[in-house]
Amino acid sequence: MAEARSKTPRPPASLKAATPFWRGKVLEDFSPAEWESLCDGCGRCCLLKLEDEDTAEIHYTDIGCTLLDAGTCRCSDYARRQARVPDCVRLTPEAVRSLPWLPPTCGYRLVRDGHDLPWWHPLVSGTRRTVHEAGISVRGKVSGTEEEFETEELPDRIVEWPGQDPRSPDPRAAK
Ligand code: SF4
Ligand code: SF4
Repeated sequence: MAEARSKTPRPPASLKAATPFWRGKVLEDFSPAEWESLCDGCGRCCLLKLEDEDTAEIHYTDIGCTLLDAGTCRCSDYARRQARVPDCVRLTPEAVRSLPWLPPTCGYRLVRDGHDLPWWHPLVSGTRRTVHEAGISVRGKVSGTEEEFETEELPDRIVEWPGQDPRSPDPRAAK
């Protein structure tokens, strides 16, 4: 037999959805889990970067860090990344506020600059697939890892796309 339900009236539910955490807080107030989830897993920041000695301009290459898995676009040893790659930059709120080279699509940079997250971000879409489908991730674009290239070859590997935002429309919006 079905259990009798209480007849106590409930207050009407608000039609306004709760504000997502990334819109309602500053970077410094995120919980560790919220902080990690802001990374979309694109892998762009794990590409080798070159600094122009004259202008201090940072250029991305299409060469991956030794630990970058070009298929998943994730670090293959995230827990020990800094022991294995000493110049791997640990992203903290302070670092995010000062690093000049975070890609324009990076979740940390978007929130830092007061922008909302785009449709393809896993926190919005609910799946990591959309980062690849929208062409944001490095999947299919990495020419190799840093061990595979000589120093003199690096300038020829400079690419513009990691510093660009394709601004692809949400394909679901057309349905
Ligand atoms: S660029 Fe930003 S969002 Fe992409 S992998 Fe790096 S930290 Fe994560
Ligand atoms: S060690 Fe891992 S997280 Fe750090 S740059 Fe390399 S692939 Fe990215």
